Amino acid sequence: MISFDMRTIMVSILLTFLVSTVIFLIIWIQYHKRYRGGMFSKNLLSDLKDVEEKSYSAGNETTAEQEKYSELIQVERNLLRALIDNLPDSVSIKDKEGHFLLNNNSHLEMIGAENQQEVLGKTIFDFLPEKEAAISDGDDRNVLLTGKMMLDKVESSVHAGTGFSHTHLTSRIPIPGPDGKPVQLITISHNITDRKRAEDALRDSAEFNRSLLITIPFGMDIVDEQGTVLFLSDNLKKTYGQDAIGKKCWDIHRDDKKECTDCPLRRGIVNGKTEKYESDGFIGGRVFEIYHTGMNYHGKKAMLEIFHDITERKQTEDELTRSKEKAEESDKLKTAFLHNVSHEIRTPMNAIVGFTSLLSEPGLTPENHQSYLDIISQSSNHLLSIVTDIIEVSNIEAGKLKLNMNKVVVHSVMEKLFKQFSLTASLKGLELIYEQPDNEPDKHFYTDYTKLFQVLSNLLANACKFTRNGSVKMGYNFQPDNIEFFVSDTGIGIPQDQQTKIFERFYQVDNGHDRQFEGTGLGLSLSKAYVEFLGGKLWVESEAGKGSTFYLNLPC
Ligand code: ADP
Repeated sequence: MISFDMRTIMVSILLTFLVSTVIFLIIWIQYHKRYRGGMFSKNLLSDLKDVEEKSYSAGNETTAEQEKYSELIQVERNLLRALIDNLPDSVSIKDKEGHFLLNNNSHLEMIGAENQQEVLGKTIFDFLPEKEAAISDGDDRNVLLTGKMMLDKVESSVHAGTGFSHTHLTSRIPIPGPDGKPVQLITISHNITDRKRAEDALRDSAEFNRSLLITIPFGMDIVDEQGTVLFLSDNLKKTYGQDAIGKKCWDIHRDDKKECTDCPLRRGIVNGKTEKYESDGFIGGRVFEIYHTGMNYHGKKAMLEIFHDITERKQTEDELTRSKEKAEESDKLKTAFLHNVSHEIRTPMNAIVGFTSLLSEPGLTPENHQSYLDIISQSSNHLLSIVTDIIEVSNIEAGKLKLNMNKVVVHSVMEKLFKQFSLTASLKGLELIYEQPDNEPDKHFYTDYTKLFQVLSNLLANACKFTRNGSVKMGYNFQPDNIEFFVSDTGIGIPQDQQTKIFERFYQVDNGHDRQFEGTGLGLSLSKAYVEFLGGKLWVESEAGKGSTFYLNLPC
């Protein structure tokens, strides 16, 4: 802008200078009335020369006054020529037919000519490619025809010397003859190639920034030192609205409308320093990674922030961590399970093998014989139940669990269980209590009898196993749509944090090497799978050291 004004001033000065020189010459010539030849036949300078020559050729003695004027003119002419020649802008003067009458150094260089002599009398067609020359010539003719100046036309052409394309602002000024009609043409070209390149580069860069802002999938803002929003990217503007500018950044970004606890603004803005921090509690409970850089924005210290929504990534990471922990846990559990299973299998197997060989001992009394057979039978059943449990686990995993629904009279199931576990309880010195609801001996419902029996057996076996003294209580209650069984004990109880885990496959509380209780860690997970398959629920309420109550709720 400044350079454009400067140029206009320079053109005006030059024009004023040229016009005043012309006026001066005309007055001078009129004054002496010596000159009769064709005025402005070639150009201003040559006209002056003619005047002088004609003065001499007239054979008149040159007066001192004439000499003085002559010197003055020479000085003016030299000054004018030096000025024109050394102007940084290209200046040329042409006659009506387009022949060059004057070219300054800059113009000579532009058209690739060595000196003035080389150019005099030639036209632009002798120096520029046909197409460019025709455009320039057309403009020249237009100005000469209309007599109107043409100012600051943007022209592009190829530099004759370097071959590089360059751009200039060209003005064409007609010079009128005595009758007022244009007879010559001054052309002044100001090279704006660098400015144009800078403008193009600036425009490209602005366009690039604009597209970047529209395209990037991140939100971006600029805030001042107090957290006031100065700028928002388009996507954030769409989210928060145009009036978000001027608000505090935490008012627009955060759910709690409070400044982030680790807000970098508190540490002060350092120009050019880039850091990132993670912050949750962003609008809609999202988590963001925020990259921020200290900068100057409209002369103010400011911070550019780029927001990257990492909520999904965080969730995935959390899930992965959980899965990893689960996989590790499951691995640990499986190792513990293998350890337990081998122990569990070995115990009855040893009994079977040992007592079977004892059976062939000579002199065995019939009582011993019978008790050995009982032990072998018990151990076989135990072994069978372990194998059955393992097979059931794989059946559940393979989705092969099948139900066999039948009418179940609740009281008869409970009585059978009571009888079966009375012996186990009494062997441990525990009291087994059956809390039977009044007047409900025949109440029944439909379910899978075997599975129900197996689940309640597991619960009672555990209750007896994990209770050292006190009692084990069993019972049920009919409710409008379901029946709720319970098995409670006064045993070791289950710590709060493990009350869900015990229903996971292979999980056993305190399953270290010094564990005193037998088991595979499969009973509760199988029971839970059965109950859920039957449309019911199995859960526990327990207090470590005081006892546990397992509840089993089935639809009826
Ligand atoms: P197992 O009894 O074969 O170890 P379960 O799946 O039946 O496997 O039980 C898993 C774990 O839950 C047990 O090892 C034990 O730590 C805990 N548990 C189950 N029932 C009770 C109970 N009545 N009292 C205390 N802990 C229990």
